[in-house]
Amino acid sequence: MQIVTKIAELKQKIREARARGNTIGVVPTMGYLHEGHLTLMRRARSEQGFVIATLFVNPLQFGPTEDYAVYPRDLSRDSALAETTGIDVLFAPSVDEMYPAGNGRTLTFVDVEKITTFLCGASRPGHFRGVATVVTKLFNITEADVAYFGQKDAQQVAVIRRMVADLNMNVKIVPVPIVRESDGLALSSRNQFLSPAQRQAGLVLFRSLTRARNLLEAGERDSAVIFSAMNELIRQEPLAELDYIAIVDTQTLEPLKQISGDALVALAARFGKTRLIDNLLWEGK
Ligand code: AMP
Repeated sequence: MQIVTKIAELKQKIREARARGNTIGVVPTMGYLHEGHLTLMRRARSEQGFVIATLFVNPLQFGPTEDYAVYPRDLSRDSALAETTGIDVLFAPSVDEMYPAGNGRTLTFVDVEKITTFLCGASRPGHFRGVATVVTKLFNITEADVAYFGQKDAQQVAVIRRMVADLNMNVKIVPVPIVRESDGLALSSRNQFLSPAQRQAGLVLFRSLTRARNLLEAGERDSAVIFSAMNELIRQEPLAELDYIAIVDTQTLEPLKQISGDALVALAARFGKTRLIDNLLWEGK
């Protein structure tokens, strides 16, 4: 595995890989890798000829009061972990390489409307504009044929899919199921900010999703009933400050009153300063 920090050098490697007849698979990440990221990389490795993981903490997608400055960064740790997956290149550009005008400054943005205003978009204004813009840049830089995204960030998957469809981008999006700790907590680079008590409290997210799944499996289709059951559990956890619980269409992210087919059950809560998200993709029968 090679670590590449310059766009021009990456382009050269992509030209060579294409000349050898390879498809290009890309796994965008912000680093501080965990088993969730590594699962995406292994999947890409097993399906594509030339695999690039990108590692870039994108200033554009963080709000002014968010954790950009303290977001965990450790290139030597990340490169050792990424190497174990057999990917070809870890692309780890500087902020100036990605935004030559300075700290996330650009005059051009990709703005996916409407679906970015629900769920996480409501409490993180500008976040998905930053995500869509940097992912577009990364698709252009890497010339991705296929890009792998975790279902953990379900809204991100919906936004990127919509962007790719609306702008006729030549990339296939592959969603990968959520990877969890053995007790159910979804893996996240932000979990390391949690105190032991907050880590324990964070399990309430998975518990409330499990409650939702049990209700759905028992035939419940009224979103209000499922919402109340989840909300009750979260309210019983004093260290959890609920941001949202949403039961929505998997593509449009519009709220569903009744669940008749597929549905996304998603939630976000703060544990101290750390905001965690989790979700359940219900495949309607
Ligand atoms: P991040 O570094 O947090 O931006 O995540 C990079 C990619 O890894 C995104 O596509 C995430 O959805 C995905 N990812 C993060 N955590 C998990 C997880 N627990 N399971 C599956 N994918 C994940």
